[in-house]
Amino acid sequence: MRFTNFTNKAMKLINSPFKKSIIISVTIAALAFHTNPVALANNSKLSTANDSHKVKKTAKAIDHKAQAAAIVIDGKPVVYLDSKNTAQDVIKKLKLQYVNEDQLTAVEAKSTSEQPLGQNETRILDLHLSADAAIEEVKAEPDQILSLDQAVSFLQKGTLEETKYKVKQGDVLGTIASEHQLKITNLIALNPGLTENSVLQIDQELNVTVPKPFVEVVVEKEFNQQEEIPYQTEVKEDPNVANGESKVSQTGQAGLQSVTYHVIEQNGTAVKKDVTKQDIIKQPVNQIVVKGTKVIPSRGEGSFAWPAVGGYISSTMGYRWGKLHKGIDIARPSNPTIKAADNGVVVSAGWDNGGYGNKIVINHQNGYQTVYAHLSSIGVKTGQTVEKGSAIGVMGATGDATGVHLHFEVYKNGALQDPLSYIKK
Ligand SMILES: [Zn+2]
Repeated sequence: MRFTNFTNKAMKLINSPFKKSIIISVTIAALAFHTNPVALANNSKLSTANDSHKVKKTAKAIDHKAQAAAIVIDGKPVVYLDSKNTAQDVIKKLKLQYVNEDQLTAVEAKSTSEQPLGQNETRILDLHLSADAAIEEVKAEPDQILSLDQAVSFLQKGTLEETKYKVKQGDVLGTIASEHQLKITNLIALNPGLTENSVLQIDQELNVTVPKPFVEVVVEKEFNQQEEIPYQTEVKEDPNVANGESKVSQTGQAGLQSVTYHVIEQNGTAVKKDVTKQDIIKQPVNQIVVKGTKVIPSRGEGSFAWPAVGGYISSTMGYRWGKLHKGIDIARPSNPTIKAADNGVVVSAGWDNGGYGNKIVINHQNGYQTVYAHLSSIGVKTGQTVEKGSAIGVMGATGDATGVHLHFEVYKNGALQDPLSYIKK
């Protein structure tokens, strides 16, 4: 990178939040490439015509230079501190951004335990810097020397590196700029030909800048944690259950496992993560859902089944004290379940104010309808398809009833029928 390019970029980005670090990096780049104090002292080749003014200025400055220490990364002095000790502290503090003091001491003393990890334990296996970092004693201008904290932050923030950004759906200049901590004007300056009114195309590449640390802390560690194992849901089809109905026959339970990971992190971001050990503490229990597949015809067969479980006809259809008894009564069954007389669709199921109490009406979709009254409870809903012989409710004495019985009526094309013409006990 040439000094002039760097300066131009810095001018373009002069309003960005990285302003400070850019200015510092310009200074450092200048130091690294033009005013390496050792090179200056020993290398007269720098006195070319172009550089003579600069060298003169720098040469004048040599008089004020103080003993200092440089952190040299990959052979280039990047930051200056007042002493070797401070430089060592900078590197230590940089490492302590990612591990604690005990972990650092242990890993540097190579006294890391070989024992298997305990529950929820973390162990640092290795810690190093991503680039070769050396500390050299040098001379530097007093105003080039950074404090410990400034140096740590400077090494972490690094330089701004130009990279390409591919335009995604929904991107506008403002969002791309703010995602990269740039102002729109900076973004435009980085992209010749781009204006505020440019229409962005998906996959179009834009020049952007991203911070690139001078050096990163690479931590290799392993850690153990307990994790839940989610349960699986198993669906079992049941041909005896109506299609569309489903119920949980076994409740799922999450399991538990102990997992050990081996991770490599670079400045705190995992770049590699592997599972090295996995022990199941508790197996999960599948959730089992029974799903009905039985298709129930909603049209009646045309013949009726006895709508109760046993019982006898306690009253037939006909006039009683001048009033028509519109159906038959069935009483004293062996159990109180009320059953659909034929396949059909429930057209009403609920309380009837006309003396029927809890009442169900089934349309058999073949011209017939049946009515079930005085139920103590109703087990179906309006719109539900019911199968001949299936349970629809419980016998009771609701409405105008003197005792527990089922009142049963049959209609054909809307006309009342005598149920005994259709059912036999
Ligand atoms: Zn009756």
